[in-house]
Amino acid sequence: VLPGPDCVSLCLSSLSPPAPSACPPCLPCPIDRQQRHFCSGSSSVLFTWDSVAAHLGEFGSVGVRADVQSVIHAIVYSCQNATNSESYLFLRKELPVRLANIMKEIKLLPEHLLHMPSVCAVSDLYRMSFVDLLEFEKGDCNDSKILDKFTDALIKIRNRHQDVVMTMAQGVMELKEAHAINANVEANIQYFLDRFYMNRISIRMLINQHTMLFGESVNSHNHIGCIDPNCDVVRVIEDAYANARFLCDQYYLASPELVLKYHNADKTPARVVYVPSHLYHMLFELFKNAMRAVIEHHGTGADEFPALEVLLVMGTEDLVIKLSDQGGGIPRSVMDLLFNYMYSTAPQPAVSGLDTPPLAGYGYGLPLSRLYARYFHGDLMLTSFEGFGTDAVIYLKAISSEANELLPVYNKTC
Ligand code: ADP
Ligand code: MG
Repeated sequence: VLPGPDCVSLCLSSLSPPAPSACPPCLPCPIDRQQRHFCSGSSSVLFTWDSVAAHLGEFGSVGVRADVQSVIHAIVYSCQNATNSESYLFLRKELPVRLANIMKEIKLLPEHLLHMPSVCAVSDLYRMSFVDLLEFEKGDCNDSKILDKFTDALIKIRNRHQDVVMTMAQGVMELKEAHAINANVEANIQYFLDRFYMNRISIRMLINQHTMLFGESVNSHNHIGCIDPNCDVVRVIEDAYANARFLCDQYYLASPELVLKYHNADKTPARVVYVPSHLYHMLFELFKNAMRAVIEHHGTGADEFPALEVLLVMGTEDLVIKLSDQGGGIPRSVMDLLFNYMYSTAPQPAVSGLDTPPLAGYGYGLPLSRLYARYFHGDLMLTSFEGFGTDAVIYLKAISSEANELLPVYNKTC
């Protein structure tokens, strides 16, 4: 049974070292004994909140967390050496723990958000996946059929949660349309979404590591799962720019050029141990923002547009990517809103599922990108020069051994 004060420790922990001001007041702690049946996998399994609570307990111990971090490091960075059964034994425990923790937080959401159809749908997906994983609690780790079944289950879970970011965003939009929400509730939702999406990034990272190493055989170019030990940063920058430019051209029939400068005291190419898809995500979002700002600031009819400048600096500890645009900047009065989910000055895209994704409008670009950066102890910041332009800076750890996961840890001693 979950103790009441657990709610307090949930609120006390945060993505980065907890800053008291960042912690909104606790929401009520509505633990119930709701039981539901889910047709998951081949059997219909009983879902209970007690089983979720049991997994929370394991996660809550600081000692266990420290262990988990070292296993994660082994799995994430040394997967070449990890066997399928080792990874299976670790994940069949760790994934339900991570799901349980976020399910608990979903239950702490404000009552009317909890009842929005999209949030109910997301909640059900988590329950189904949780139940799917519990089926493997006692499976023999030397039975290759079970190992294959586990990999298949992970792929199914990953596909099932494909659209969760947008579905959850939809839920919050529905809430805002249906109810007037005060600043306090808004802060709670923001706090929850940061943790919810960070949890999702971490779960997908672990699933991808396992499936890519032991299932889908796309382990090309010496990648370790989805980690590239030799990630070519310049190439990722150029890819992200090209794809953002394609969208910008479609939208505005024009786009700014790119000027890329690279500084490394050693004169070696910029290569880091990183997940290229995460880096791509951040750069793509920043390029889209910069392009939109430049074109709108100078007007679509302008003869030419000032180029976007990227400065890539490889230090001994940090790798820094600065993207400077001359898109008019952002007034200081709204700087605090930039990382709020759904803060956007673009019109909201009308229909989802268009052939081309919209250039802007969901307000998820910056907050999600910052989560990707922070996930491996990096960061993402914006500095504005109103009337001129904006600098967006991505910090990454140049030393991979320091780049453990950064997760919202539930610390019972809090
Ligand atoms: P979206 O692009 O969907 O609006 P983002 O989170 O990417 O969401 O950005 C939020 C808002 O921040 C944008 O709508 C825009 O007003 C502002 N913004 C972000 N980057 C820039 C930039 N480089 N120059 C000017 N404004 C920016
Ligand atoms: Mg954007």
